[in-house]
Amino acid sequence: MNHLVFRTLLPVAFIALAALLLSFMFGTAVGVLAFGGAVAALLVYHARHISQLARWLEEPVLDQMPRGSGLWDDVFALLYRYERVKTREHQQLAKTLVRFRQAGRVHPDGVVILDAENRIDWCNDMAEHHFDLTLDGDHGAPITNLLRQPEFVGYIEAGDYSSPLELRSARTSAIILSLQIIPYGDAQKLLLSRDVTRLEKLESMRRDFVANVSHELRTPLTVLSGFLETIRELDLDPQRMRDYSDLMADQCKRMQHIVDDLLTLSTLESAPSPSLDERVCVAPMLERLRVDAVALSGGKHRIVLDASGDYDLLGAESEIVSAFGNLVSNAIRYTPEGGEVRLSWRASEGAAEFAVEDTGIGFAPEHIPRLTERFYRVDRGRSRATGGTGLGLAIVKHILNRHQATLEIHSVPDKGSRFAVRFPARRVVPATTAAAARGEA
Ligand code: ADP
Repeated sequence: MNHLVFRTLLPVAFIALAALLLSFMFGTAVGVLAFGGAVAALLVYHARHISQLARWLEEPVLDQMPRGSGLWDDVFALLYRYERVKTREHQQLAKTLVRFRQAGRVHPDGVVILDAENRIDWCNDMAEHHFDLTLDGDHGAPITNLLRQPEFVGYIEAGDYSSPLELRSARTSAIILSLQIIPYGDAQKLLLSRDVTRLEKLESMRRDFVANVSHELRTPLTVLSGFLETIRELDLDPQRMRDYSDLMADQCKRMQHIVDDLLTLSTLESAPSPSLDERVCVAPMLERLRVDAVALSGGKHRIVLDASGDYDLLGAESEIVSAFGNLVSNAIRYTPEGGEVRLSWRASEGAAEFAVEDTGIGFAPEHIPRLTERFYRVDRGRSRATGGTGLGLAIVKHILNRHQATLEIHSVPDKGSRFAVRFPARRVVPATTAAAARGEA
């Protein structure tokens, strides 16, 4: 028998025994009276403690547990111990929940917990940002009241969440979100959102790039196959044959240039940034650029080199020569005969600038932001006619980025253009000091 039950019954048995004894000694009336009085006192004792317990249970605060006497002291002690364990477990659980919520709040993706009726139960900061909602203001609101786009409403109602849904953010259409619903628990749902704007942009750039490359290569290939067919079907005289093979060689050269430029771009993309150890001797490099420019111009332009500042650059020489060479070649190709192409170099302790200025055809300023995109040309026909691939400035931009340099472009249609490359101080060193440091001076 449980000791509490035993201790409850024991006084009753004791009272009954005492009453029996009294009734023997003083008569039945005294015995019954004594028994009734004792049982009533016992009932009052229990009723008082039960009422104390009932009052405490209405607002069960651990520190305000009532104090009992006798048997009830043990009952309250047991209750206190039980309540203390429960409170500790509860506090532990609350702490864990807070930790989970904190982790959920800082999650880089948006997280919304929806109940069985698709009402917002909880959401993190990123979801507030993605869906332009607030947990305090929108708690309990149906998600379809806030995300009203028909694609989303259809997605949530269809119930097939095997693949994500791409949607423009309600806050700004510039943001593209990938949404995924994961059902869990008792008809609850997790709505996850991720910003895929950059991925989408990359994907569309990749598509454009493949389309552009295919288009650029298809044109010379079509010309080549046309010539080949003509040669096969017609009995051409040797002179015509020579003319045709020259034209075919031109097309092959064009394809070769495109492929070479594409390979250069992909090498630049995958190679690590040039170190600050390699010194580029600027003076002789500028002189070589000038000589090459004269050769490329074939005497049709005035080529001027204007250099001041005895400073060298730190970087990859082959890349810098390629970037500067591209700018010079563009200036010559887009400047009509009789024009001027000026190469200038200004360097000091703090920075250096290489610029190519021409008096050529120029272009309207609205083209400037897109000029360094792959295959972007202001005048496609002119670019092709002068052997351009549309990749030159993209290569220049890549090389400059790798050297933390910037490209500044100014142009006026029919007046000319200026392409200026600026290097940061850490890539510019006095020519002699750098040479001496390496024991070369
Ligand atoms: P392309 O091989 O066509 O020259 P680029 O990437 O070097 O390709 O240049 C992109 C476009 O920028 C050219 O097609 C041309 O329209 C314009 N461009 C570049 N440099 C000049 C310049 N110096 N003068 C006028 N237009 C230029």
